[in-house]
Amino acid sequence: MPQASRKSEQKSHSEPEQEPEQEPEQEPEGDFAALIDFHPYRDRFEAYHRIPAEPRSRESILAELGAMAEEEDRMGNAGRVSGSIYHGGHDHYQFLTEAYGLFAHANVLQRDMYPSATKLEGEIVAMTASLLNGAAVAEHHPGEEVCGVVTFGGTESLINPMLVYRERGRVEKGIAAPEVIIPVTAHVALQKAAHMLDIEIIQAPVRDDWRADVDWMREHVTPNTIAIVGSAGNYPHGLIDPIEEISALALEHDLGFHVDGCMGGFILPWAERLGYPIPVFDFRLPGVTSISADTHKFGYALKGTSVLLYRNSTLRRYQYFSYPDWPGGIYMSPGLSGSRSGGVVAAAWAAMLSLGEQGYMEIAERIFETAATILTGIATIPELEVFGDPTFIIAFRGRGIDIYHVNDFLISKGWRLNALQLPPGLHFCVTRPNTADGVADAFLADLRDAVAYAKTPGLGPARSGALYGLGGSPEGNEALDLLFAAALDAMYDVVP
Ligand SMILES: *Cc1c(COP(=O)(O)O)cnc(C)c1O
Repeated sequence: MPQASRKSEQKSHSEPEQEPEQEPEQEPEGDFAALIDFHPYRDRFEAYHRIPAEPRSRESILAELGAMAEEEDRMGNAGRVSGSIYHGGHDHYQFLTEAYGLFAHANVLQRDMYPSATKLEGEIVAMTASLLNGAAVAEHHPGEEVCGVVTFGGTESLINPMLVYRERGRVEKGIAAPEVIIPVTAHVALQKAAHMLDIEIIQAPVRDDWRADVDWMREHVTPNTIAIVGSAGNYPHGLIDPIEEISALALEHDLGFHVDGCMGGFILPWAERLGYPIPVFDFRLPGVTSISADTHKFGYALKGTSVLLYRNSTLRRYQYFSYPDWPGGIYMSPGLSGSRSGGVVAAAWAAMLSLGEQGYMEIAERIFETAATILTGIATIPELEVFGDPTFIIAFRGRGIDIYHVNDFLISKGWRLNALQLPPGLHFCVTRPNTADGVADAFLADLRDAVAYAKTPGLGPARSGALYGLGGSPEGNEALDLLFAAALDAMYDVVP
């Protein structure tokens, strides 16, 4: 499997502690299967290897899907999941699904048939631009106006701007070997973008506060640098990079500056209004040239939409694709997608209107309070250490214990946190289901027990750390790539 992307694995300033020594497994598929059962329904439902000859009744199809959905929702409904389920209200989802259903079959590429898409997408972009202070652009860049696109998710909202900056560098500056500087904590979809677009990623370390080292970034700007990236907040630790400093650096060198607000774009603005000390990270800063914000995270929409904003329409045009000479007709599309369902667009628009500022604020307030409770609780546990100064994603690591042992225990109690590495850690991305009464206290109680468990003498290697032990060296990464390839293959197997 070609793997151009993991060549510059950089350790950040802190040494990983107690990474369990592990030999690469002989049979990677077997190892992965031991961690995740891809086929729990193998004995319960018929497996289809071909389209059934006779139609099956809608009723029985829906019953089967319903049984799976109900089981799979249990964990999210219990409020013990980090991230992933952002709203969690089934009445809300029901409403979004109704909106979705009206346009599920519509292809938004065909605007003559579906002018509603123009209204809905334009308004989603405008509402997001307003939330992220797009109007401020007129003050520092008169004549420019924020614009954007609706994408299929955060990943597309990161690939598109990389294409834009590559094309801008090529067309306006003659840059043939483009480089993008990103913090090591920036989202991995940027690595995917670089892999696809043949861009070189330069990974900046983080400072003692776990936020991007802007001095390091400044020292690594070259004539080939097309763009820099900062996160608000980043996925691993939820922290907001020094966006104002990076903005100044971008202006200094006329670089594209993408602020990855996929995670924070729809939650941090409410924190600011609630009086939390959130540094400015949006279009009020003159160096910011694009921002991504995921409607399908804290926008509380259905999965499959995100918003990507540019400071001006010249930038946006670099991501457009048109091809007038195709026998199939004149073709144009704004981003990576071809045909797209209007359903998710309608649902995103419906989510924004039905919540309103008031709805977003109320949920945000509870999220920040819950996160503060968790943060305060963790601070009283001497064996744990929080990464930086977080607001809604609380990331922590072990002091003298293996944090993956902590995770093993939490998993046994039904919690689903996200495992971090380089260095090892866990994060709890607080979402609306986690704000239910008693969840934070139950978590802290289990966390204390988990730490006690992690101190048990003679524990074997942590189950949830098994894969992480392999990474960090070329041979280890090669073994992991094989393992992942086998796992991805396995995801498309009908019951083996
Ligand atoms: C979720 C996320 C993304 C994009 O992820 P998708 O799964 O493609 O939506 C990008 N950046 C950050 C910081 C994120 O949290």
